[in-house]
Amino acid sequence: MPALPSCGTHFTTPLVPVQLSPTRPLVWAKLEYLNPSGSAKDRIARFILEKAWREGHVGPGSLVVEASSGSTSIAMALVCAQLGMRFIAVMPAGVSNERVLIIKAYGGEIRVTPKEEGILGAIAETERLARQEGAFLPSQFSNPDNVLAHQVSTAREILHQIPSVDAVVSGVGTGGTLMGLYQGFRLAGCPVLPVFARPVNLTGPPEAECCSFSARIPGVADRVSTIFDERALPGLRTLEINDTQALAVSRELIGAGFPVGPSSGLNFEAAEQIARELGSAARVVTVFPDRMERYFTTELFAPYR
Ligand code: PMP
Repeated sequence: MPALPSCGTHFTTPLVPVQLSPTRPLVWAKLEYLNPSGSAKDRIARFILEKAWREGHVGPGSLVVEASSGSTSIAMALVCAQLGMRFIAVMPAGVSNERVLIIKAYGGEIRVTPKEEGILGAIAETERLARQEGAFLPSQFSNPDNVLAHQVSTAREILHQIPSVDAVVSGVGTGGTLMGLYQGFRLAGCPVLPVFARPVNLTGPPEAECCSFSARIPGVADRVSTIFDERALPGLRTLEINDTQALAVSRELIGAGFPVGPSSGLNFEAAEQIARELGSAARVVTVFPDRMERYFTTELFAPYR
């Protein structure tokens, strides 16, 4: 097995206290948009592909294929570029063009599946490519290493940055972030409350990006997906967050100097609600998963056009 190329991209993202005004609660936010590809998905891309390399499942020139509406494919494309592997992203039609261009720039290929088949159609296509071309499938929706990546990297970093955590709040796409953080904190002995920030739509039926996800907050689900295992999150609280409010909070965060995407507003709104409830002594941690630059053509930036 050739040595794993060292790409110098293992680093810690900042965990910062965010209080948007003196009358609002303080929340600890992990700035995952500062990862090299611009999202928390760098964690799982690096963890899964480096493990596959060490175990001899992939090496120079291998083909990696992933079904994702964006962030995971972008992160996989970046890590494949660094490790000298081929990458194909399979996506349901309708994903924003910024994402497609980024993947192509990293040398990745795009395969588009019919919109009406949603993410399940994309997953079926990756399985066909694995059979036909012997591609390696990171399979973020079913791979337990998605959860483990956050447990051993994101959660550990947070516990180097603050001594304990009382509540962890996140939206759920695959559920890897919320489950991994929760398990990492529990293993370190923190009796932490897990909180699922669920986007709900109160203003009519907008155009959905992908059938299994919420309509206006890309990357997060409005219902629990199959991999997300509630039994692994005892005492789970679910907070329903109006998606219009989530977008407004994302714009507020951007205005305060945090260049975030829509799911960060969702997470922050839910985290503020929990922080109010638990009181100022409680440490409430959330994640800002990705960057605003991916959303210039979306509703997030409509007020500035
Ligand atoms: N925010 C964004 C922008 C995402 O793309 C995703 C995942 N697709 C999430 C949050 C949720 O992360 P997870 O898959 O770990 O639940």
